[in-house]
Amino acid sequence: MEAATMRLRPGTPVLMRSDGSVQCGTDPRWSVVLDGLTPVEGSWLRDLTERRHVSPGQSAARRGVTPHRRDLILGVLARAGMLVAPSAEHGAGPGAATADARALGVLRPDGAGLATLAGRAAATVAITGLGRIGSVIALLLAAAGVGRLALVDPRPVQTADTGLGALTEQDVGQARDEALARVVAGRSPAVEVLTDGDPEPDLAVVVESRATLPARFARLMSAGIPHLPIVVREADVVVGPLVRPGHSTCVGCLDAVRADQDGDWHLIGAQLRRGPEQPQEAALSALAAATAAGQVLAQLDGHRPTAVGSCLEISLPECLPRVRRVDPHPRCGCITLTP
Ligand SMILES: [Zn+2]
Repeated sequence: MEAATMRLRPGTPVLMRSDGSVQCGTDPRWSVVLDGLTPVEGSWLRDLTERRHVSPGQSAARRGVTPHRRDLILGVLARAGMLVAPSAEHGAGPGAATADARALGVLRPDGAGLATLAGRAAATVAITGLGRIGSVIALLLAAAGVGRLALVDPRPVQTADTGLGALTEQDVGQARDEALARVVAGRSPAVEVLTDGDPEPDLAVVVESRATLPARFARLMSAGIPHLPIVVREADVVVGPLVRPGHSTCVGCLDAVRADQDGDWHLIGAQLRRGPEQPQEAALSALAAATAAGQVLAQLDGHRPTAVGSCLEISLPECLPRVRRVDPHPRCGCITLTP
């Protein structure tokens, strides 16, 4: 597309620097500084952010920027990924979805954040284990525009499940999945919520206590369904690895690595998997849920999440995620193709 008819990427700040140069964007991944501009050319670039219905070509002509300089500057902006087609803004209007679309559009070459949201709206995520972490993940995914949530956890709401997220004392004693389904339906009416499972979600999140049980993931592995295990331990939470079956480190690989490191792992693991659900501390749960939701959305949006091939370990007291790489284990035999 002709650069002069394109638009500056939505949401890109254009900032005037003291030496007359102009900075477009603030994110170190893509921001660019143009120097050697005349004051007229600088004000033209500002104009592009404020009068979005006018094309850069029209605006340049009105401001008196010469065609040669216009094309030179637009060429730099185009190579920096700062220009998108006007259609990237179609459908924009007030509302939370538009605000999200603008931020998400910055990540796309075409700037079409609404297309990212459309992809999410067509997706189904299953969440098993609806304590504090699972329920906050459900709320985050619903708010982020995921179209369908399959909530799985018929255990009763405990007092410890409340205080973070949506469940309250009034929900105590009711089935977690049904109580949470009512909250999600009230807050995000566009989201379809299932409490009887979904055999083929686009991704499954499974929250467990103390240690994963690889056999629990066998069906997801054989069905080729990407899944994200989350393990709650005494004072930390492990998010990941996000498993792309046959293509990346799986839960069985993780178990095999542990067995290599600890000859008694088969005894230890079996004991850890028994017993009551691990308590989910508030700040730790909030960070773990947000981290997990980010990984899920990155997967749905077509990115490669950091948790593919890695565990994200989040520990009290600071709750800063630490990335620990875990390679596929040759004894597991789950990898059929190069990851
Ligand atoms: Zn494996």
